[in-house]
Amino acid sequence: MPAHGLWLDPHTIRDRAVVTHAHADHARRHRHAVMTEATLGLLPENRRPRDATVLPLGTPMVAGGATVTLHDAGHMLGSAMVLVEHGGHRILYTGDLKLRRGRSHPKTAIPAADVLVIESTYGLPGFRFPDPDWVVEEVALWCSRLIASGVVPVLLAHAAGKCQEVMLALARYGFSFALEERCVPFARAYETAGVELPDWIELDGATDGRVVIAPPAGKAAIRKLPRHRTTLVSGWAQDRTFWRKVGADCAFPYSDHCDFDELFEVVELSGARQVYTVHGYATELARHFRRRGIRAWPLAQDEQLGFLLPA
Ligand SMILES: [Zn+2]
Repeated sequence: MPAHGLWLDPHTIRDRAVVTHAHADHARRHRHAVMTEATLGLLPENRRPRDATVLPLGTPMVAGGATVTLHDAGHMLGSAMVLVEHGGHRILYTGDLKLRRGRSHPKTAIPAADVLVIESTYGLPGFRFPDPDWVVEEVALWCSRLIASGVVPVLLAHAAGKCQEVMLALARYGFSFALEERCVPFARAYETAGVELPDWIELDGATDGRVVIAPPAGKAAIRKLPRHRTTLVSGWAQDRTFWRKVGADCAFPYSDHCDFDELFEVVELSGARQVYTVHGYATELARHFRRRGIRAWPLAQDEQLGFLLPA
């Protein structure tokens, strides 16, 4: 937003940026960045800004004549949508967003906006996910059956955020976990932020009836395990070629993003009259929105860096 000297999740290092959450594709080592305290706590040293302003959710901050407020995005610990208000106009940037969060959370609240900039990770009709509670139940059953027959269940999930969200979702089934080393710093950061995770240890050979969680890429530690089965826990479960490529034995469609239908729901809940799509299937999603009468356009990479408030 050049008029306000403010960049939203920029890919290059900036003087002043809002970082919506701690994933690598959203956080760079900016000179000054605005984010939630939990996001700052989850950032590894090499992606921490040189100077940070911690902005709690729901607290307005004046920046370059506009008012910026962060709202919970339900994607991972600390994740936030960015609402920018100026001259009576409201622009909402979703960052990565999860609307339906299962029985333990209410649906993520979407602030009203005139213009919506929405993520498009699962912006194709093939990405429709079942009820998250049902999927978690299926994952729990899969783990229990394997443990009962002396096989180690291995859940393949992103080390930052997804691993911990899966642990929390499975908490009520009473499993203990063994985390591959890349998941460990993020599990510690969740606990430092006050989140109570179910019992876990760092994976180190013997698993003693624990559920193992590891990132999908680089499975050296997993190959050393005795009899085991792997499953991808991700929205990409809907894409058979993808999960076969990561070498999983099976897959469960449990995501920390909106599915195709939820993206439409977010547009409706925001009440936005103009919609811009970013990240992932931006072109395709904008086309699907337009087919349903929504005024929508994809933002190309260079435009993402220079989005202007409407006059
Ligand atoms: Zn993300």
